[in-house]
Amino acid sequence: MSKGTHRRDVIGRLAAGAALACLPGMAGAQARKRPFGYAVVGLGSYATRQIMPNFKNCDHARLVALVSGTPEKLDRYGAEYNIPKTHRYSYANFERIRDNPDIDAVYIILPNSMHAEYTIRAARAGKHVMCEKPMAVSAAECEAMIAACKRAGTKLMIGYRSRFEPYNQLAIELARGAHVGRTRLITAEHGFNAQPNQWRLDRRMSGGGSLMDIGIYSLNAARYLTGEEPIEVSAVEATDRSDPRFRTVEDRISFLLRFPSGIEANCVSSYSSGHNGYRVVSADGWIDLEPATSYEGQTMRIRKDGVTMPRVLPAPRRNQFAAQLDHLPECVRAGKEPIVSGEEGLADLRVIEAIYRSARERRHVSLSA
Ligand code: NAD
Repeated sequence: MSKGTHRRDVIGRLAAGAALACLPGMAGAQARKRPFGYAVVGLGSYATRQIMPNFKNCDHARLVALVSGTPEKLDRYGAEYNIPKTHRYSYANFERIRDNPDIDAVYIILPNSMHAEYTIRAARAGKHVMCEKPMAVSAAECEAMIAACKRAGTKLMIGYRSRFEPYNQLAIELARGAHVGRTRLITAEHGFNAQPNQWRLDRRMSGGGSLMDIGIYSLNAARYLTGEEPIEVSAVEATDRSDPRFRTVEDRISFLLRFPSGIEANCVSSYSSGHNGYRVVSADGWIDLEPATSYEGQTMRIRKDGVTMPRVLPAPRRNQFAAQLDHLPECVRAGKEPIVSGEEGLADLRVIEAIYRSARERRHVSLSA
């Protein structure tokens, strides 16, 4: 049996088990009584530097439990965030979260290849799931995750924080509302210089190179700025295979997305050059955001009626991290789907697979609805 087949079997068995594991609405009923409790799974860089420090800025969410394979991290962050020993878990005893009524949801901040397994195990334990981007390493895994959460009656949200960032929200409103005229073209560029010796450069852990990690922001922005799904992609990859960083994953991949309305998005994803921005272009004007999807510092300029002006928004009461963390409890309480549900993560993975196919086979790839 191939590694891939074995992996699919494991994910399939976990997904089937999730159906029997909890009653629909159980986690929702728990959540209504008190602040919504998250268990953070994986105490790496993004979890400890961005997410955990931002619970203090939330209206509804609080950090109540930690999951890690490293006892020293559990001790250190447990002490820092006042998490009792009863609320600290290893990957081996992760299933015990089921018996902890303080935990409403898990936030999975692990390497990409572990997202599906931990989402399904969490659903099986009756918990809602916030899962980092990319949702998983294949569309098939995304489908298994969605099915598992559906059967368990738990919500699934993907950590697309830019959807909670005010400049990106304004860009969506202006682009879809044709503020500078009907959108003709979007350019979106995301990249950074990847440091060697990390899981991101190991395809088994990451599922791919720059596109899985940072280029997904270009793709996701093109989709949220248009509100449409691409119908065709064409991609070109440029990777120096003699660079030890790129033995198993791609460096740069440039891709063109065609949307049903005729809009085209010209996108860059890179692990060897620094970019973070997008521009929505009409016949006579544009909306520019650079940086666009950074943790802070978004800068917007708009060209309309022959005049270019900066657009400055007041600082939000809740930053994008806190607003994202609060969105899941808001949805649980209102009985709504998150604006960045599992379906949103799946839509990106479907396009990512088409982009890789296009680059590999050197041809346009059509995406059916
Ligand atoms: P990281 O390497 O800093 O953290 C990963 C954590 O997973 C570490 O604590 C590590 O110990 C743990 N882990 C468990 N099993 C592991 C294994 N077998 N191999 C390697 N690590 C293992 O990575 P990160 O930057 O925190 O990224 C984690 C996830 O968060 C990724 O999916 C990434 O795409 C996502 N992320 C999102 C954003 C964002 O802005 N939304 C930013 C950074 C990272």
